[in-house]
Amino acid sequence: MILGAGPAGLVLGNLLLAAGVDCLIVERQSRAHVEQRARAGFLAANTVRILTANGLADGLLANGQQHDTCAFRTDSGEFELGYRDLGRREVHTVYPQQDLVRDLVAEFLARGGELRFETAAIGISGLDGDRPEVLTQGPDGARRLLHGRFVAGCDGRHGLARTAIPEGAARRTGRDHGVSWLALLAAAPQSLAAVTYAVHQDGFAGHMARTPQVTRYYLQVEHGTDPADWTDDRVWDELQLRMRTDQYGPLHQGPILERRVLNMASDVLDPIQYGRLFLVGDAASLISPSAAKGANLAIMEAEVLAQALASQLRNGDEGPLTRYSADCLPRIWRAQEFSHWMINLLHGPAGKDDEAAFLRALQRTRLENLRTSRRHQDQFAEQYVGI
Ligand code: FAD
Repeated sequence: MILGAGPAGLVLGNLLLAAGVDCLIVERQSRAHVEQRARAGFLAANTVRILTANGLADGLLANGQQHDTCAFRTDSGEFELGYRDLGRREVHTVYPQQDLVRDLVAEFLARGGELRFETAAIGISGLDGDRPEVLTQGPDGARRLLHGRFVAGCDGRHGLARTAIPEGAARRTGRDHGVSWLALLAAAPQSLAAVTYAVHQDGFAGHMARTPQVTRYYLQVEHGTDPADWTDDRVWDELQLRMRTDQYGPLHQGPILERRVLNMASDVLDPIQYGRLFLVGDAASLISPSAAKGANLAIMEAEVLAQALASQLRNGDEGPLTRYSADCLPRIWRAQEFSHWMINLLHGPAGKDDEAAFLRALQRTRLENLRTSRRHQDQFAEQYVGI
């Protein structure tokens, strides 16, 4: 039983079906909702490898764009890092998460999988035994009790699965980074060839490609900001200021299609399994979007879990399932560490006191290291595009 039809649940479901393991996905939202929910876009090389190796990459190989450069704009100028020539010499594939989800849903159904939309998991029990149960509520309000051999909690950060682990059986560590972003989707083509991170005294601004018609932008805003206060004009004025368009040229403007505030927060559960329950993706570890790792981690963990479940169910080999947390957590922590480093790279504290000035000097030094040191650039590239 798989809870949630995001990247984690859908990749897991597809891989299990390919391995001859029956599974059922329940998703509390409608199909239209999950197929239109715009979030991630930057897929790491390992993610593309997993999807390609499992026949899930036709859409992204046909329509995704390869990206190999990111740029930083600061008070002291602009520099670019072409990471195709750095680190492991890998690139990103940009493919909107909602398009990937649409492809994965279609493939799961084509492989004969059962996917119940508008069906929420509302209770999980029996995780200590060999026949756990999930209580669901469907669109008609009817409740049904489902039984299975295992439960995969792929239901995201606000899901039920992580709350089903008894008190004391897993430790949650986490941090609110004290930074918020206004996440924007603009109906405009990308203005710059590269992902661009603008570090500005008024706050961070980011430019990220999505499709030829739509570009994602981010603006650092105060905690508690109401997105409705940001009219299209105010958004474009602020983006132009922070992206320093007077120095580097204009942005292609268009209507803002979506605006929402993201509070940068991260957490990790340890372990990410309990009895017959295994957590995957945001349910296991929430990661700030500063380094675009969340969907990539979700797909990596889905692959590890699919292989472990197939070993157990086909060969009776418990080893990989027992090691699931130990196999995933070091990679989760590496992604968390890099995302945290990116937060410190991109955001300087406001204020004029000595501590703020000290932290801003550290931030300038980090950026300068990245601009001038090949060793820093190689390490950055390896973590930026890797998982
Ligand atoms: P989700 O995608 O959240 O899916 C969980 C699913 O479970 C949902 O469909 C939900 O409706 C369902 N569900 C919840 N509760 C229940 C229940 N009780 N019963 C049944 N179903 C339930 N990551 C990247 O790798 N690269 C990026 O470029 C990137 N950019 C991002 C930009 C933004 C603005 C945001 C918000 C996130 C971004 N991320 C990025 C993060 C990425 O989107 C998430 O990490 C990813 O969606 C996690 O996938 P998931 O399957 O674990 O969870």
